[in-house]
Amino acid sequence: MYAEEVAAMAGRIRDEDIALVRERTAIADVISEVVTLKSAGGGNLKGLCPFHDEKSPSFNVSPARNVFYCFGCGVGGDAIKFLMDAEHLGFVESVESLAARAGIQLRYVEDDRSTPRARPQQGQRQRLVAAHAAAVEFYRAQLTTAGARPAREFLARRGFDRAAAERYGCGFAPDGWDLLTKHLRQQGFSHDELVTGGLSRPARSGSLIDRFRRRLMWPIRDITGDVIGFGARKIFDDDDGPKYLNTPETPIYKKSHVLYGIDQAKREIAKQGKVVVVEGYTDVMACHLADVPTAVATCGTAFGSDHISVLRRVLFDSDERAGEIIFTFDGDAAGQKAALRAFEDDQRFVGRTFIAVSPDNMDPCDLRLAKGDLAVRDLVARREPLVDFALRHMINRFDLDTVDGRVEAMRRAAPLVAKIKDREKRPEYVRKLAGDLGMEIEPVQRAVLTAANGEPAAGRPAPTRPGPATPAVDSPRSMVEREALKLALQEPVLAGPMFDAVEAADYQHPVHAAVRVAVAAAGGAAGATGGAVWIERVRDACDDLAGQALVGELAVEPLRIDGEVDPRYVSVTMARLQWSSVTGRIRDLKSKIQRINPVSNKDEYFALFGELLSLEQHARALREQAAGGL
Ligand SMILES: [Zn+2]
Repeated sequence: MYAEEVAAMAGRIRDEDIALVRERTAIADVISEVVTLKSAGGGNLKGLCPFHDEKSPSFNVSPARNVFYCFGCGVGGDAIKFLMDAEHLGFVESVESLAARAGIQLRYVEDDRSTPRARPQQGQRQRLVAAHAAAVEFYRAQLTTAGARPAREFLARRGFDRAAAERYGCGFAPDGWDLLTKHLRQQGFSHDELVTGGLSRPARSGSLIDRFRRRLMWPIRDITGDVIGFGARKIFDDDDGPKYLNTPETPIYKKSHVLYGIDQAKREIAKQGKVVVVEGYTDVMACHLADVPTAVATCGTAFGSDHISVLRRVLFDSDERAGEIIFTFDGDAAGQKAALRAFEDDQRFVGRTFIAVSPDNMDPCDLRLAKGDLAVRDLVARREPLVDFALRHMINRFDLDTVDGRVEAMRRAAPLVAKIKDREKRPEYVRKLAGDLGMEIEPVQRAVLTAANGEPAAGRPAPTRPGPATPAVDSPRSMVEREALKLALQEPVLAGPMFDAVEAADYQHPVHAAVRVAVAAAGGAAGATGGAVWIERVRDACDDLAGQALVGELAVEPLRIDGEVDPRYVSVTMARLQWSSVTGRIRDLKSKIQRINPVSNKDEYFALFGELLSLEQHARALREQAAGGL
């Protein structure tokens, strides 16, 4: 199984201690920290495998034999192996972690001698977790000091008493450069450990300083309850930093996986088969205290596919039993986020996704303060399926009193319906959409079908390297750009206006773009009468040597059409050119949006999202135009 590792480590932890750890560890307890397990009959248990993506459970645990095995991906072993794989621990770290749970004092031996001695070095994870545990205590104690008064007031204003602050381990990072750092160094944590764990950072002078200062602190725990990082909120007006600071990526803190509150919420999430996703630390606290114990929040990042994977395993979300995920939103932000989420991949999950929008733009914390615990529970109870919500929000943006408004709303909404993977549900939504728009079912159905057929197959070719020489005709994109330039040079009277309307930025190849710029500098194709004088003017206007050569070449190269050039050919060519450019920009924009934190960069996020929607609309129009003659 992992014989080599065992052999390599055997000189460190005594063999009999390792055996004792195996014997004393209940594997089902260890695994159910991470995976929700149900009876599989015969005393065995099963759940969704944490090591591969699956729809129905093939991950089996045998408490009697103290092993696990996945029939889906073939991973299996004992509790030590499970922790190694699930938490990316080394063998020693895994044994140490289990020994700590079972209350076993491990003895270490030096190499092949069997003289027991104190542990030479714990595994890295253990050390970083221990440093965080010490930091939690330090920050906690600081919360009672005079300097922490604004932090205590902040909590009190948000309806959290001392008991609540203690339950969540709230603390205070004091005003001082290196108070925590010194404290932890005294406890034996090394310079490297503090930097690696994200608790301290080197100052310009080279000495270590605290990462967090003058902030209200929330310890962030992993699913098993170990503190792996901190969220730190600004509480002083003269603090120039962002509202929230979080632990950076470390070997134990991966923000794409971390869910604040999951350690306290996991049992209820599994029991109720639902999870409530809120936006911040105070919202998680408010929900739990208002008896919505299934609330969690992401930490400084958008909710992503890794978070889904974590939750699905806790939810036991499978074909047999559907888990429910409820996103809470305040106000207008909701629609755009929900619509964006509908673009995402995990459709199985989307089908079970609900949206709960709080009244008057209040987050759960505000809501609890203003209207009490019942209002928070009510918010969650009044959830609405994502698809319904997204459709309603999408069409509400149009003036449905006009034909144009209804048609545009239909075109925007159709892709959402087309994205519903569960085909049986589509007709239902087509009917609903038609009803909401006040249109016949038939055109709506057509729009959904068109949207379902997706983008044309021609994708964006790999970017060609700009060389000094004349660009080769090596891709559909390059070909279409050449064709557009030929039209401007050879048929300016016919192609001029349409050609001039497309900017140089839409040309991918720099030499093509240079010729496009030269056409404009020569007065534009629309005003030209053609012939040798026109070609000469463009060539003179071109600063680029390769461009000048290309003008001569394109002036005589035959167009790729049999017979006469007509306006439709020009229109199709220009649409194809722009379509490539727009889809490239859409791709870039989508990836940019995914990288933005919607909480801390709300304005930028929505600006980009708006841009995305209008680009997508533009792309659809171009696609239809491009299909016009082909
Ligand atoms: Zn598996």
